[in-house]
Amino acid sequence: MSTSAFRRDIITKPIFSWARTVLPPMSDTEREALEAGDVWWDADLFTGNPDWSKLLAYAPATLTAEEQAFLNGPVDELCAMLDEWKITWELRDLPPDVWDFIKREKFFGMIIPKEYGGLGFSPYAHSEVVRKISSRSLVAAVTVMVPNSLGPGELLMRFGTKDQQQQWLPRLADGREIPCFGLTSPEAGSDAASMVDSGVICKGDFEGREVLGLRLNWHKRYITLGPVATLLGLAFKAYDPDHLVGPTEALGITVALIPTHLPGVEIGHRHLPAMQVFQNGPNRGRDVFIPMDYIIGGQERLGQGWKMLMTALAAGRGISLPSLSAAGAAYAARTTGAYARIREQFNVPIGKFEGVQEPLARIAGTAYLLDAARRLTCAALNQGHHPAVISGIMKLHATERMRIAIDDAMDIHGGKAVIDGPQNYMGNLYRSVPVGITVEGANILTRNLIVFGQGAIRAHPYLLEEMNALGEADRAKGLDFALCADMALLTLGGALKRREMLSARFGDILSELYLLSAALKRWQDEGRQSADFAVLEWCMASGFRTVENRFAEILANLPNRFVAVILKFLVQPFGARVLGPSDIVVQQCAQLVLEPSAARDRLTPDLSYIDDDRGVARLEKAFLLITGTEDIAKRMRAAHIQDWHEAVKKGVITEAEGDQLAAAHEAVAKVIEVDDFPPETLSPQYKKPAEVHQFFQELGETRAAS
Ligand SMILES: Cc1cc2nc3c(=O)[nH]c(=O)nc-3n(C[C@H](O)[C@H](O)[C@H](O)COP(=O)(O)OP(=O)(O)OC[C@H]3O[C@@H](n4cnc5c(N)ncnc54)[C@H](O)[C@@H]3O)c2cc1C
Repeated sequence: MSTSAFRRDIITKPIFSWARTVLPPMSDTEREALEAGDVWWDADLFTGNPDWSKLLAYAPATLTAEEQAFLNGPVDELCAMLDEWKITWELRDLPPDVWDFIKREKFFGMIIPKEYGGLGFSPYAHSEVVRKISSRSLVAAVTVMVPNSLGPGELLMRFGTKDQQQQWLPRLADGREIPCFGLTSPEAGSDAASMVDSGVICKGDFEGREVLGLRLNWHKRYITLGPVATLLGLAFKAYDPDHLVGPTEALGITVALIPTHLPGVEIGHRHLPAMQVFQNGPNRGRDVFIPMDYIIGGQERLGQGWKMLMTALAAGRGISLPSLSAAGAAYAARTTGAYARIREQFNVPIGKFEGVQEPLARIAGTAYLLDAARRLTCAALNQGHHPAVISGIMKLHATERMRIAIDDAMDIHGGKAVIDGPQNYMGNLYRSVPVGITVEGANILTRNLIVFGQGAIRAHPYLLEEMNALGEADRAKGLDFALCADMALLTLGGALKRREMLSARFGDILSELYLLSAALKRWQDEGRQSADFAVLEWCMASGFRTVENRFAEILANLPNRFVAVILKFLVQPFGARVLGPSDIVVQQCAQLVLEPSAARDRLTPDLSYIDDDRGVARLEKAFLLITGTEDIAKRMRAAHIQDWHEAVKKGVITEAEGDQLAAAHEAVAKVIEVDDFPPETLSPQYKKPAEVHQFFQELGETRAAS
């Protein structure tokens, strides 16, 4: 019997029939979460032998002329209006003209169809808009992103009745209504389904009539746009103690629209999340009465809220945070590469030091990988898929890797990025990282429970394909993944749910396979550019290192040691052997962002660039001037001359070249400046030293007198 036939007949076939029976009993909310959305390329990866030609044939996501015009028009105009320092430290909010502009240009209605007055943009266009704005202002990006993500708009479009759609969508599209979505409450965070917020079915007065409806009581927190929302999408548990609609008492999670002017709604207070001043806050409802037709989808959707939310999340999670994160990584690559080129220490640009090149390459690689995955995911969403597992992978890995890229960027900038002020173009991004990590499913939970837990179970409909794949020759690493995953399901069964560390490692492998597929696809879609090969190589080598290490960790920790030994023999007889990118690849990868080139532009496309003689604009200018004088500097170095006046005098360079150098150095001096503030502007309680002295003197005199 061949090895593959042995796997198929002796291992895999029995596993699947058994695995079905040993999977843990699921609650309704768990089942609904698992069943939400659909599967796409992730299912192919699970077969162990994906059809690469199918991946390459997927049409890349593109923009229509109208979407592109919006990016070049209103989006650029909006970016020019944004001053993140002023917004964060002075106004603590977007200025009124920016709010007006956002509403007027229908930024809140990007996903709402044109027939309801929205822009009717594709997921990719939505992603591109958020991406560009976020490279200018995170506060504005989050503000624009939220109404276009999970919330009243999306839920109405999918599940609303025709009347509800006609009533609310046009008002949401043009900003007459500002939406928010309230799921999280103090007692129910990650375990959102455990909320105690309630809606009791009863009769009540509404606009002068007695109608059947719900009396709501809730306490939500962390709600983005909550403080300014006029229309709250609310998740609560519905109860029917008097059996007014049927025999069931506890009807389950339900979603309704609550106009925030209704009596009993308390809204308006603000949280301050990591000094990110987008609107975010708690809200409460005390005995708020709504008629039945305020339930999204009407009375027949009572108790279906969780399913509705999970379905909407399956798409939404793949767009918003991945777009912000991909933009963050690209922004870090562009700015940090430029800074590492213009900042000299020990008479050498810091980007020439290997110690700096290593994190620089990591930033460049991350930028390439994340944008590749964002584009691939948007392509699936554009085609109408709602890939729940992929969107979980995207949310988790985009935010997690963005965190690493931003940490690296901070380290390479040193004090320049630590000292806050209008000239610091990195600090706010750094502070924002934990927000992305926490929202839309906190990352630890998503990594340990969701990615593989959902991935494995959602792959079940593809058992047959998997077995067919196992019948073929061993052609791909993915086959090892399928085999190990099967064995873990077999030996752990329901316990896999509790063995989060094992589940997380499987999830990491599945995630790497998805992200690396995306990198390959990007390289193909961009015409296999040889200049980009180093960064692709960096992604592949780093990804396979993770895959190999996770396999080794799984095999070392699988509780059934007998199975572990057999698997080790089949999958990794010599242990983890991929070391990651070579030093040469790291150097080439770093070099990509250390000089202006088409490859650098391809790696960091479509970020907002406003020539305002501040942070990023000053940096880009200095970078171009410094790299443009490279030859002149080289000649001076060869002549062992540091001062350009002397170099001109000795004829090593011309006077015009000397001027060029002077301009470059002046530009660099502007970039390396950091801000300082008169102390009284930093604290309203500030007292001048003389006043402090006088204060203590008076205090002493008073004490002596008493
Ligand atoms: C700035 C901001 C904006 C937000 N906007 C909104 C909004 O608009 N609407 C809304 O409804 N909510 C919103 N949220 C809430 C957000 O979705 C929750 O914060 C998130 O779901 C996590 O809940 P928690 O903060 O209570 O953390 P907890 O649930 O207390 O979790 C704490 C930690 O434990 C981990 N954890 C929990 N359970 C497990 C498990 N089984 N296995 C492994 N790890 C686990 C989590 O991953 C996390 O790291 C927002 C939050 C923030 C901070």
